[in-house]
Amino acid sequence: MDQYVEQNIRIIGADLHYGRTTFAEAGGLIVSQSEMFNRMEIADAKSTRPSTRTWKRPAPGKREARKSGTATAPRSNAAVFRSKRCALFVDQLEELAVEYDQLFWVEDVDCIWVRLTSNVLAGLDRSAVFVLRLPLLPGEFVSAWAFWFDALALTWIGPRHTNFPDGSICAFDRRHGVWSIGDSLVALQDLYCQWAFRHLHNEVEGFWPGPQCAYFTLERILEFKPEEHCGCRRPSGTYADCCMSSDKIADVNLAAREFLPLHNWNIRKPPVSIARFALGDLEPLPKLSCLPFQKKLRYRLLTSCASGCFSEC
Ligand SMILES: [Zn+2]
Repeated sequence: MDQYVEQNIRIIGADLHYGRTTFAEAGGLIVSQSEMFNRMEIADAKSTRPSTRTWKRPAPGKREARKSGTATAPRSNAAVFRSKRCALFVDQLEELAVEYDQLFWVEDVDCIWVRLTSNVLAGLDRSAVFVLRLPLLPGEFVSAWAFWFDALALTWIGPRHTNFPDGSICAFDRRHGVWSIGDSLVALQDLYCQWAFRHLHNEVEGFWPGPQCAYFTLERILEFKPEEHCGCRRPSGTYADCCMSSDKIADVNLAAREFLPLHNWNIRKPPVSIARFALGDLEPLPKLSCLPFQKKLRYRLLTSCASGCFSEC
């Protein structure tokens, strides 16, 4: 890995870890606070200060649409809801395609499937492929999955901070109002890129940067490093300073009985159909029956990120 990239990972990771603001620019590239301030000073000197998201790449993307063919007359309330929701997402996808590369989307019976890519960090030797499922029916939320792609292989980004059991991204807790359906899809995708960056930092630097939550003892024992933020309900500092010592003397059998039955025995991975879609294989589209649904989860965990929003784990 390039020395400059490694240095940038450390700088941005420190921003996230110590609560400083980070930024996303076109293509979903994460930018450190110091880098952004440098750019703003230069822009000020030229009297053309840009905003973070105005540095656009020419990314018209590729869009494909497939009608479900299931519309029936007379139109029910559900059909009207679906139609309005679909129009909303299609408008937002236009904006998303300007900011993100290689975007295409396909309309299915009950959702819109979206595939797009991001380099996550300038100069990184791989890209990330994201698959988003935008629901067209009431009561459902967006699901998303992410994979690293380096031209040789597609590798799922996980398992930390992904949902059980389908391995979908857990980038925020929707109960905390970080993002709701109707908000910008660009803002949502930026959060997913920040989440992917945290994975990159965990891989390179060996720990998850920034606040996080894990209410179950076993989860902390299995995943947490001493220097990470503690994830208990009342965290105070790092894991080493907070719960590590009490977790070490906890009854592991009891901790396992509390955690494993609720969390698919700690097994999570994306459905094969999602990975195929990530590779650009549109037929057949992933089906609901393939996807274990998040609504079956008993709890959702929370991580606050540097910009003051939240990530669920
Ligand atoms: Zn704690």
